[in-house]
Amino acid sequence: MREVIRFINKYDPGIFPEDLPTRDVIQLGSNENPFEPSEDVRMAYIKSLENITRYPKPDYSELKRAISEYTGFPPENIAVGCGASELIQSVCNVLIEELDRVVIPMPSYTLYAIYAMLRSASISFPVFKNYRIDPEVIAEEDAKLLFLCSPNNPTGNTIDRETIKAIASSSQYVVLDEAYAEFSGKSCVDLVNEFDNLIVLRSFSKFFGLAGMRIGYAICHPPIAEAIEKVRLPFAISYPALNTAIAAIKSREYYEALKDRIVSERRRLEKELSRIEWLKPYPSEANFILVRVEKDKEGVDKKLLERGIVLRDASIMGLDGIHLRITVGRKEQNDALLEALRSLE
Ligand SMILES: *Cc1c(COP(=O)(O)O)cnc(C)c1O
Repeated sequence: MREVIRFINKYDPGIFPEDLPTRDVIQLGSNENPFEPSEDVRMAYIKSLENITRYPKPDYSELKRAISEYTGFPPENIAVGCGASELIQSVCNVLIEELDRVVIPMPSYTLYAIYAMLRSASISFPVFKNYRIDPEVIAEEDAKLLFLCSPNNPTGNTIDRETIKAIASSSQYVVLDEAYAEFSGKSCVDLVNEFDNLIVLRSFSKFFGLAGMRIGYAICHPPIAEAIEKVRLPFAISYPALNTAIAAIKSREYYEALKDRIVSERRRLEKELSRIEWLKPYPSEANFILVRVEKDKEGVDKKLLERGIVLRDASIMGLDGIHLRITVGRKEQNDALLEALRSLE
């Protein structure tokens, strides 16, 4: 076995509803969309049954046309994959040689480090004051590949456009993970036209609520997109995934309306959480809120789980103290959470 395998911590997916004894679980731990899929997505899934004896066509041209319509980029700029997760892996496979320098500002999504390590990269994890990434410090790091996430998981803040431009102009390759971009209403994907070293990752799991289907895409300079397509598993996206993704883009107004509800619930939740004395919510532009917990953590986790409420433990590198990440749910789920938290005061 390769030596590096021993040093890799398996990705921690948090607690799943299946892990709890109760049936009425309020899952606020995985940043999923809490609403039902659109009727068109449902129908597309059922219609996929007609195709399941066949291989999906691996150029995924129909999916790319739909993504093209959604993003405004031509299909040459698009690479697809089995979730944005696979694209993180593919980008590492395409760009990183042994001991290349990879920079991952912390705290951020833990999957970047796993795939960079698998390429035997030399990784640095800078931590910035108030999570404000400083382009000058980044430039000094002299990275082959840098991972940025905006809105960032788990802090929820976005990185401003000028910072991304400054970083892209002084770096070799930059991944900008925009898995939550639709919730912030801010995207820097158009900068791909200006910077041929910028790779923007997107997902169907959050805004389009298709986490169970596994579809993601990258928007980047055509040669990089082509390289990613080369290393991807040829049939990585299944027929049902492909068809539901296309249908989701067609029902985009439905998802826009859900997003508006999620964003207004986020604002309400933020306000209510800040009224709880032992919680400090971070301002968020995503569909989740990070909170610092000034109380005995075991007590909080246990009490919430007893009520069937799942949050994500966000005590990761770069965050001091106890932190929990709360996915914004439907109103009644958020109310149940608030009530449970208040009962702990
Ligand atoms: C959820 C998430 C992803 C990936 O999601 P997929 O389900 O693999 O598309 C990527 N990046 C961040 C920061 C995420 O939170």
